[in-house]
Amino acid sequence: MSTDDCFAIDHRLLPLADAFSLIAERVVPVTGTETVALADCAGRVLAEPLLASVTQPPFDNAAMDGFAVRQSELQGGQRRLKIAARIAAGHPEHAAPPRGCAVEIFTGAPLPAGFDTVVMAEDCKRDGGYVVLPDRIEPHSHVRRAGIDFTAGDRLLAPGRRLRPQDIGIAAATGATGLTVRKRLKIGLFSTGDELVAPGDALQAGQIFDSNRPMLRAALQAMGFAVTDLGHLPDRMDALVTAFGLAALDQDALISTGGVSVGGEDHVRAAIESLGQIFFWKLALKPGKPIALGHVGDAAFIGLPGNPVSSLISLLVVGRAVLHRLAGAVLDAELPPAVIVPAGADLGVPGNRINFIRGSLETRDGQLSALPYFSQDSSLISSLTGSSGLIELTAGSSTVAAGTPVLFRAYESMMR
Ligand code: AMP
Ligand code: MG
Repeated sequence: MSTDDCFAIDHRLLPLADAFSLIAERVVPVTGTETVALADCAGRVLAEPLLASVTQPPFDNAAMDGFAVRQSELQGGQRRLKIAARIAAGHPEHAAPPRGCAVEIFTGAPLPAGFDTVVMAEDCKRDGGYVVLPDRIEPHSHVRRAGIDFTAGDRLLAPGRRLRPQDIGIAAATGATGLTVRKRLKIGLFSTGDELVAPGDALQAGQIFDSNRPMLRAALQAMGFAVTDLGHLPDRMDALVTAFGLAALDQDALISTGGVSVGGEDHVRAAIESLGQIFFWKLALKPGKPIALGHVGDAAFIGLPGNPVSSLISLLVVGRAVLHRLAGAVLDAELPPAVIVPAGADLGVPGNRINFIRGSLETRDGQLSALPYFSQDSSLISSLTGSSGLIELTAGSSTVAAGTPVLFRAYESMMR
């Protein structure tokens, strides 16, 4: 995290796009690299480009089971050829077949030198040691040329890529047994609030169970991060300062939920300012307006609001972009791609903030649309379990009426 000057923006709501620019400017990858066996690379962030050490496929080969011929030898209309050899995948024929012959060949088997066309078995008739070919033969058909997939030296994957199963596949296709990846980002997670008790403990008057910490931890793990649960903190400045200060010594990022607003019991922001620095803390975002980004020593700090809905949405919309960047990942965009669908109901007036509305995609009469969950109260955990994603509305002063195209993102796409 770069810390040369103060970016605290106090009194206005920072637009989300500006927050993303600040993040791009301020947040630099913190993790070192390590070499990891290919079997454990899925979800990790590639640290060095993957260069092809071989050509794929390494040789011309059959794309079908059938008979390979030399196109030039069929010019005279010759259709009945002697079968000179049988070539299966993994068993190349080393002797050059004589002129005027076909070879029986199987998918993936190397073509003998000079053979340039494969006729599929279904179109041929076998006649003892001979094959009768069809009249019409497409020159060069059913042949995979060496190098059509990639060529030795090609740059196959760029650093910063979060490795998908198919990326593991292409690395294996080059013969790689392991890859150099970024070390996993270490995240310490806290919840704050005098009213919270851990599930398993008895609820006393005025208390509720701490639901954010398990929820946020699960979301962070789904994104591929290593999370240390650092427990629950009371609404006391000294307790926050001590806990955050200590945790910053061995985590790359700290995340807390609750206590980040302006109430008399909200001490998170002041605690961070006393230990380090806040870059922003009020975004033009609904829900999730108070969300703090800053640092404590070398650790990034993300202060999420306490309302369960706000805490999860602000993690997905803002925290996710910060954390992937810290982890060395290169995202195509801060938010994953959205589908554009008509709103299935009137969605109200967004006002001066970007709105993220909990909702679900529904098909009615063959038409896909995004329906809002019936209540948008940000204290309702049930609105998160009862919806499948977020409808994004840009700030504006007119009603977003049913039928208006809106952006929709499934939760799953934001939890990776
Ligand atoms: P705060 O942001 O601390 O003012 O909290 C806002 C609301 O969210 C309050 O009603 C809190 O009780 C609730 N809340 C805060 N943290 C949690 C948590 N970890 N789990 C469940 N609810 C919470
Ligand atoms: Mg609180």
